Amino acid sequence: MAIKSKIKGKKKHVNKKTSVKYKKYTIEGGKIVKKERSCPRCGPGIFLSMGQRRAYCGRCHFTEFERKEVEPKLEAK
Ligand SMILES: [Zn+2]
Repeated sequence: MAIKSKIKGKKKHVNKKTSVKYKKYTIEGGKIVKKERSCPRCGPGIFLSMGQRRAYCGRCHFTEFERKEVEPKLEAK
């Protein structure tokens, strides 16, 4: 029997992306300030991805809508 030299179905190794969590922090006057909001359920470290006027957690699927003070509609008289 002939031995196949080529190994089929072997995935090419790809390096993992470097974590970019540090980009979400800024240091202002010795204090660490978060640029983005973190998930209230998952706690700090899990950031919410900002969508259109809402924040979404990819871990627990928590969605928070941006609270915008609704202007009372003025009735035309
Ligand atoms: Zn979460």
